[in-house]
Amino acid sequence: MKSFDEAPFLVIWEVTQACDLVCRHCRASAIPERHPEELSTEEGYALLEEIRGFGDPLMVFTGGDPLKRPDLFDLLRRSVELGLRTTVTPSATPLLTAEAVRRIQETSVARMALSLDGPDAASHDGFRGVEGSFLRTLSALDLAREIGLPTQVNTTVTRFNKDRLAEMAAIVEQVQARLWSVFFLVPTGRAQQEDDLTAEEYEQVFEFLYETSKKASFDIKTTEAQHYRRYVAQRRKAEGGSRDKRAGAPDVIQRQAGINDGKGFVFISHTGEIFPSGFLPLAAGNVRRDRLGEVYRNAPLFRTLRDTGRLEGKCGDCWYKNLCGGSRSRAYALTGDYMASDPRCVYDPAQGI
Ligand code: SF4
Repeated sequence: MKSFDEAPFLVIWEVTQACDLVCRHCRASAIPERHPEELSTEEGYALLEEIRGFGDPLMVFTGGDPLKRPDLFDLLRRSVELGLRTTVTPSATPLLTAEAVRRIQETSVARMALSLDGPDAASHDGFRGVEGSFLRTLSALDLAREIGLPTQVNTTVTRFNKDRLAEMAAIVEQVQARLWSVFFLVPTGRAQQEDDLTAEEYEQVFEFLYETSKKASFDIKTTEAQHYRRYVAQRRKAEGGSRDKRAGAPDVIQRQAGINDGKGFVFISHTGEIFPSGFLPLAAGNVRRDRLGEVYRNAPLFRTLRDTGRLEGKCGDCWYKNLCGGSRSRAYALTGDYMASDPRCVYDPAQGI
């Protein structure tokens, strides 16, 4: 694998901002109509070819709701044909029909990811703003399992669902998803700071995720909680270096080590803007006029974000900064400085490791 200075490990393309859900925490502040200046199909093909030039990154089609684009299946097919390991994250709206799930499978994508933010209809639909979303999510996951389309479940942890994570983990197990991708709130878009957990509550959720990871059949990954890697490293050290429950299973620390906003990660908006993350609203270029690789490698914003020597505050002093580095998006959202400490980390570097 190339170094993160050379190429991202993960490329996210927000193919549209349009979506028929009105999720409480929506990063994109999505609306039902498509933007007239979305990247066209041809621009999308060119972008995918450029991304393939990075080597072998994971390619994620997100939104909004990708199903709002009639050319979605063509774009997915092209991505797979180019050899990109491709995931798509449709929204659970009436567009997510059984036929749509089958068509996604026919493109041979590696995985379909669906969001689950509560363990029942009342909690999930309340969060997503549309009735019926919970049942639609479960039936799409069930159908995917039946037809052999691998799935991933995405959950955003907030004050509203932090005490119901065990129930959601049981659903992830039941639908036989391969991965539970757990997002932590960054107050951007519609997400509100008061919906986020405290730093101490992050640690409690980390404990839950770590204990769950020892026995679950699925893998667990966190987004915008880089300090989960610090937590896992501390727990392993305390436990004498124990690893995953499955011998040979990919290791969460090795797999995600050092990945951060702009470091192993790049986000392209529906109009082609190039961001270090979908949660860090500072554009460093636009694929309509700039080379993606050039921006990723050389834009001052990206170079600064990758330079852990420029981290400030306790993240700058921290022994774990190359493994973790804190959420640059959350630092920016809460302090206005993307190199400041992540305010949701309890760790005190003065404690030692
Ligand atoms: S202080 Fe910063 S770098 Fe250290 S563990 Fe916390 S978030 Fe990560």
